[in-house]
Amino acid sequence: MAWIVQKYGGTSVGSAEKIINVARRIVRTVSKGHSVAVVVSAMGDTTDALTALAKQIMPQPDERELARLLATGEQVSSALLTMALHALGQAAVSFTGAEAGVLTDGVPLNARICDFKADAVRQALEAGKVAVVAGFQGVDRCGEINTLGRGGSDTTAVALAAALGADSCEIYTDVDGIYTIDPRLVPAARKLTAITYDEMLELASLGAKVLHPRAVECGKEHGVVIHVRSSFHDEEGTLVKEDVGLEKGTVINGIACDENQVKFAVLGVPDRPGVAAKIFSAVAQAGINVDLIVQSISRAGENDILFTVAEDDFEKARSVLQPLIEEIGASTLRYQHNVAKISVVGAGMIHHTGVAAGMFQALADAGINIEIISTSEIKISCLIAAEHLQEAAQAIHSYFNLQESCACPQE
Ligand code: ASP
Ligand code: MG
Repeated sequence: MAWIVQKYGGTSVGSAEKIINVARRIVRTVSKGHSVAVVVSAMGDTTDALTALAKQIMPQPDERELARLLATGEQVSSALLTMALHALGQAAVSFTGAEAGVLTDGVPLNARICDFKADAVRQALEAGKVAVVAGFQGVDRCGEINTLGRGGSDTTAVALAAALGADSCEIYTDVDGIYTIDPRLVPAARKLTAITYDEMLELASLGAKVLHPRAVECGKEHGVVIHVRSSFHDEEGTLVKEDVGLEKGTVINGIACDENQVKFAVLGVPDRPGVAAKIFSAVAQAGINVDLIVQSISRAGENDILFTVAEDDFEKARSVLQPLIEEIGASTLRYQHNVAKISVVGAGMIHHTGVAAGMFQALADAGINIEIISTSEIKISCLIAAEHLQEAAQAIHSYFNLQESCACPQE
């Protein structure tokens, strides 16, 4: 008999009928003798609809009020799912984030969980009830409602599994698991049986939206194995865990693509200490995240600095950079919108050579030019023209044989 945390995403609880189906699945798990705590997202696109409603009242609503508004979405689905369990004769009780004991850090719309005092949930399970917890929310030390950022119900689930010392944490969603690449981009994409926390963190921060990045961080910190699987059938999904047995020869596990980038080039920058610091601290002070960076080698006392930012930050970045050009004595500021970042991720890179060479070769064979390269221990990213993204994705996916279960570069 195990303690199981199950999380159901918005599409899985998108209608009364779907909620009843989820209740049936929970009852099946309970009937095997397990104790089940459930975390739910808001129904369908409720969070988007509530945000849009608030913006009809005023364009920039107060963050405290917006957090209170958004938190209601998960309260609706948790109460309805609990009723559906009652209708099936299953004892169950719902909890808001506050009632479940989720303590947050006071940031209204992007709070982190500082502590999870899960005693009330534990007591419900011990009394033979299913506990249904509203995801995505908690309260700070003053009792103020905070939400955890978009996708945050995943983090509620993993944190609850850690707090309960649960035997497993299942994230039910509308996809079958984690894929080597978005199947809409490369139809030959393969579902992974397992992936490490570090790889998943890279993929999640590169924009793969299957799991909330903080859920992965929380899983890594507390050793919670996260099982991402479909709520529409019983097939196994993908396990996210510490060690997935690299000895099987897997070097690369995933490819992530990001079309939401703008490239800036500061040309003719005087080659002296402190200039790069000036550029990037101005950008950082404006709250803009810089992604890929490259500086050319110095020629005649000058060099060029290129970097990318998210498309959403374009206007802000341009208005910070333009006045700096004269101040630092650079010659021109240029920018380019239609660029995309493609990244390969694999924990096996730490021990294997030739991954960068393989990626560049695959792009070269497809006749695709690389504009910027950046690497971390387990990731290599290239900036390319956006129009070649799909072609690049296909070329790299097949070069590394990611459609086969033992992914090794082709001979
Ligand atoms: N309902 C929230 C959102 O749509 C949280 C979640 O689904 O995890 O972002
Ligand atoms: Mg989600």
